Amino acid sequence: MVLGTYKNAVSARATDKAIQKVSQDGGIVTALLSYALEEKIIEGAVVAGPSETPWKPEPLVALTSDEIISAAGTKYTFSPNVWALKEAVRSYGLEKVGTVAIPCQLQGIRKTQSYPFATRFVADKIKLIVGIFCMENFPYASLQTLINEKLNSSLSLTEKMDIGKGKFWSYTQDEELALPLKDTHGYEQAGCNICKDYTAELSDVSTGSVGSADGWSTVLTRTDAGESIFTKAVDAGIIETKDIADVKPGLPLLEKLSNSKKTKADAEIKSRIELGLPVPF
Ligand SMILES: Cc1cc2nc3c(=O)[nH]c(=O)nc-3n(C[C@H](O)[C@H](O)[C@H](O)COP(=O)(O)OP(=O)(O)OC[C@H]3O[C@@H](n4cnc5c(N)ncnc54)[C@H](O)[C@@H]3O)c2cc1C
Ligand code: SF4
Repeated sequence: MVLGTYKNAVSARATDKAIQKVSQDGGIVTALLSYALEEKIIEGAVVAGPSETPWKPEPLVALTSDEIISAAGTKYTFSPNVWALKEAVRSYGLEKVGTVAIPCQLQGIRKTQSYPFATRFVADKIKLIVGIFCMENFPYASLQTLINEKLNSSLSLTEKMDIGKGKFWSYTQDEELALPLKDTHGYEQAGCNICKDYTAELSDVSTGSVGSADGWSTVLTRTDAGESIFTKAVDAGIIETKDIADVKPGLPLLEKLSNSKKTKADAEIKSRIELGLPVPF
């Protein structure tokens, strides 16, 4: 299946206006992790928190909803959240941990759950993983080049970044700047070119912007735990949903992009093998 195994697909958004204001899309990650915390399904969540350097995330073990909200929004560079899961259990003593993860991080987390090598007593404490869709990611130096040099702006003035409609967008208080994606190619992390997972196939609940209208998110519930918490959050009025079949562009676009990521990665893997380069598959 091009989107991985899932139970239900919907278009959704958080109903809380404070979350809507700071979230990247429909605020599903923030709303679900906060709800899980309130319901004591988790005792804390590892998120990509802010740091002193603009747009350079630092993993944060969030113990309150306010801390989870402080990490809302997409940072288009790496946040070593997987490392902080160990910290959450070993230093904070959490027994039930939630987290947000891009697909490659999810693969790492699921591997530690199958083979808890150096993660003994950590892997079984991870109770909820909200996965986010990911086409590519950028080293921090690339982000600096894109914003400072290509867009003649500055990371400290940037209030939001987004990738969509074929462009890389940067918003400041009074400007909306855009770069065609052909100008960002080559700046992404090289490893992303052999990554075959677009929709965070190994998550409990996956979410991203593609498929839904602005301010809304596409959500795939995948595991029993993910389906159960998402349904509870909808029933409690924390999240509102629309039938994805009534939403344009809906799942066909998500399927198309997921398929194209897998096909491109297969071609790149083949060519790296032919060149004698190592590939991790
Ligand atoms: C590198 C990257 C590429 C993406 N590419 C796509 C794409 O091609 N198509 C698509 O539909 N969606 C993509 N997304 C996902 C999208 O940008 C949103 O993150 C997602 O829709 C969640 O929005 P939200 O409003 O529910 O989240 P919010 O409520 O705003 O919360 C966002 C959560 O993501 C976490 N986060 C932010 N940056 C990172 C990071 N670098 N690594 C790990 N966690 C992070 C934050 O800690 C926060 O908890 C990408 C995200 C990232 C990080
Ligand atoms: S494209 Fe794949 S390897 Fe690159 S950051 Fe996204 S999930 Fe990770």
